[in-house]
Amino acid sequence: MFENNKNIWVYMETEEGKPKAVGFELLAPGRNLADKRGCSLVAVVIGNGVEETAKQAIAYGADQVLLLDAPEYNIYNTDVFGEAMVGLIEKYQPEGILIGATNNGRDLGPCVSCRIKTGLTADCTAIDLDGESGNIAWTRPAFGGNLMATILCPNTRPQMGTVRPGVFKKPVADESRTGEIIREQMKIPENRVELIKRVREVAESVNLDEAEIIVSGGNGVGSAENFSYIKALADILGGAVGASRAAVDNGWISHAHQVGQTGKTVAPKLYIACGISGAIQHIAGMSGSDTIIAVNKDPDAPIFSVADYGIVGDLFEVLPVLTAEFKKI
Ligand code: FAD
Repeated sequence: MFENNKNIWVYMETEEGKPKAVGFELLAPGRNLADKRGCSLVAVVIGNGVEETAKQAIAYGADQVLLLDAPEYNIYNTDVFGEAMVGLIEKYQPEGILIGATNNGRDLGPCVSCRIKTGLTADCTAIDLDGESGNIAWTRPAFGGNLMATILCPNTRPQMGTVRPGVFKKPVADESRTGEIIREQMKIPENRVELIKRVREVAESVNLDEAEIIVSGGNGVGSAENFSYIKALADILGGAVGASRAAVDNGWISHAHQVGQTGKTVAPKLYIACGISGAIQHIAGMSGSDTIIAVNKDPDAPIFSVADYGIVGDLFEVLPVLTAEFKKI
């Protein structure tokens, strides 16, 4: 049984029975909030054949799991998932809900917050408890990324927010943790949307969210063809190709590769920025990387202020040398 109804929830998104990484990532800030509030951390797992995800959620830090497991939850649908979440919220009255800002999460969050008439802070980059008021402090970029706004939701409950994948690091799993899995059933509403066909976009094959190494190119790359320099280095390192918005806007590479405020937020072990100046909107999407290397011919480029290692030079000279050296390893 739930001990109290003021818990912190993390929505663990699944698709065709598989969990998305962002759900596990959100268990880290969720745990922090629950510990500070002295309440339970509850993972909400909705999917088809997702019992294993429920068990994993406990290993990654959840105290309890609310599990909705049925064939109707195999693929995301606004009506069906919205009804499920609203039903669970009305029954258990959580204090706060963290949702990954994936395509589906960006749909589900506003749908639910609207139905239960509460606030939602979208695209957060930091979450903590506001010591003074006891509300959740949701931090997100505002005014084109030029300032960070911290938003409180003092009057309505639950407090809701979406967080981009890659902002938080997945906690370390502890298989010895124990927790409670509560199997629930919610009314499946009439489905107003008929799924005719699913087309897997190229975007899905760009695995920036989960890549451990990313080599990114910017305006300095100069053309679509020259992205072969970036790709060659990424390939030899077993990494993914990223890009600045300038490179995307120039039509050299698709938006699926864009890193930054209006692209993806990434936190790989190694991020190599090539021909990227280091605008605040780009940095917002990659500053969580463990190690940053910048290659830029301008020694005063702002990217060097966030880089751990900087190479001042022409990327067309530097990258072939790096690629050739890594090939030897
Ligand atoms: P530039 O600023 O033109 O920099 C190119 C760099 O390449 C320069 O530093 C230059 O010295 C260097 N260079 C040139 N030739 C070479 C060479 N041969 N060898 C080595 N170095 C070379 N930007 C993003 O990236 N992601 C976002 O998500 C994003 N979102 C935005 C949202 C908003 C609301 C706004 C207003 C802007 C956003 N931007 C975003 C755009 C951002 O402000 C910058 O315009 C953009 O990041 C610049 O890209 P860049 O660094 O590739 O290009």
